[in-house]
Amino acid sequence: MGKCRNITRLLSDALDRPLTTGEWVAIRLHLPTCSGCRNYRKQIRLLREAAHTMSGISTPGAANGDD
Ligand SMILES: [Zn+2]
Repeated sequence: MGKCRNITRLLSDALDRPLTTGEWVAIRLHLPTCSGCRNYRKQIRLLREAAHTMSGISTPGAANGDD
């Protein structure tokens, strides 16, 4: 599956820009089938939270992409 490269790039892009509906759909369809990409998402979330904690910036109301 060459999809993983695309999905992980989208997960990374999501930190910097809003994803399109089609991009979210691609992620949501792929993640349940792929532990590698689920782990990737977990890692970049942890990294982002750590970065926010270290910089002391709180972002109330920031969307996290989950329901
Ligand atoms: Zn994958």
